[in-house]
Amino acid sequence: MSVTKLDDGLYRCGSRWVNFYVIEDGGEVTIVDCGLPSYEGQLDEALAQMGRSPSDVDAIVLTHTHPDHMGAAPGFMATTGAPVLVSDVEAPIATGERKPAKVSGLLGTLWRPSMLSLIGHLIGNKGLSNTTVSAATPFGDQEILDVPGRLKSVATPGHSSGHRALVWEARGVVFCGDAMATLDLARGTRGPMLHPFNEDQAQAVESLAVLEALPGNLLLPGHGEPFKGTPAQAVEAARRSL
Ligand SMILES: [Zn+2]
Repeated sequence: MSVTKLDDGLYRCGSRWVNFYVIEDGGEVTIVDCGLPSYEGQLDEALAQMGRSPSDVDAIVLTHTHPDHMGAAPGFMATTGAPVLVSDVEAPIATGERKPAKVSGLLGTLWRPSMLSLIGHLIGNKGLSNTTVSAATPFGDQEILDVPGRLKSVATPGHSSGHRALVWEARGVVFCGDAMATLDLARGTRGPMLHPFNEDQAQAVESLAVLEALPGNLLLPGHGEPFKGTPAQAVEAARRSL
């Protein structure tokens, strides 16, 4: 469990399995994804390293609503008072009005050592149950969010129905959520790849073309190490792994 400074105003939090990010722009803070419930304490650590406090957090933005990306969301809402923003497609899932769809590809991998280790981590960090939040502010595709970092929402469905990449254009950073990964949760292998579990595999492959066209020089996934390079370079490597 760790908080790592990637650059000024850009922090990676979470574990070797699951990432979330804390960014600062003009003294105000946005949390990008939320990780597992027990990662909640890492926010204080990231804010302390930034010289900021919970009241400086203006927004919590989710790439999608799977439990490993919104586990700590209720805790972050309570400690910061900030709203949760999520794609208009998944806002009803975030609040529990609609049931999430199932990802495919999971069952056949449960025997793998990497999966057993991941499941142990999920159990130990309260990450197996669905999380909901009391309210979620929806945003559309191609919308520039009025949050610190002015993140741009880019629809990249497939891993989940309303999945969004979030682009911090001023800094050349793409938070790609699970539209791509650099860690294969099922096998433990590393490098740019399509996430091994998707709600709609064909759509997830199509969304690589959307990612490919994005500007930037740093790709930050929900799972795995940062990728230093353009989204096009990351996607080229991911395609080779298909
Ligand atoms: Zn994930």
